[in-house]
Amino acid sequence: MQLVFATNNPNKIKEVQELIPQHIKLLSLEDIGCYEEIPETQNSIKGNAIQKAEFIKTHYGYDCFADDTGLEVDALNGEPGIYSARYAGEQRNAEDNMNALLNALKDCQNRSAHFKTVIALELNNQQHIFTGICEGEITNEKQGKNGFGYDPIFKPNGYQKTFAEMDLKLKNTIGHRGKAVSQLIAFLNS
Ligand code: IMP
Repeated sequence: MQLVFATNNPNKIKEVQELIPQHIKLLSLEDIGCYEEIPETQNSIKGNAIQKAEFIKTHYGYDCFADDTGLEVDALNGEPGIYSARYAGEQRNAEDNMNALLNALKDCQNRSAHFKTVIALELNNQQHIFTGICEGEITNEKQGKNGFGYDPIFKPNGYQKTFAEMDLKLKNTIGHRGKAVSQLIAFLNS
């Protein structure tokens, strides 16, 4: 069986391919000749994941899954959320995004936040949704060099380190994306 993972990130494909049943071959967007920008115009993380998966199924005919992730900060009513990648502007720069968020939370006591990943799967004309959430808090300053995005300013609950101070294995075990991918894999293995 073939299943498209709607991403152009070869690392994500490799990571998931190693975990799913061997009879399922993962294809990338490049593999199916999809070089166009997939629309992401919904007002929720879940909506965007569904939109991307449905786009591939409708326009290319493949069973498919897509993921979408956002950081939701309680004191900012869930922002940056769907705007996480471009919180500080269209340059989509992680340093700028972190600086903007630290600034928005300046003098703010409530630092609670969570990462949310939603995976939408289109399989045999049915849709399945898998959600991974990691609760934590936004630190007062950047700590650590690992990871990407907001990792240096996100400290998961129960840990004294930011994601950027952890090794990838630990981040994947407790993190939002790892939790959503585990559910997808358990479903595909069932
Ligand atoms: P995407 O949907 O996976 O492209 O994620 C959207 C944006 O959320 C990224 O550009 C990052 O800024 C942020 N983000 C997603 N996942 C993570 C993570 O695991 N750590 C830190 N930031 C993340």
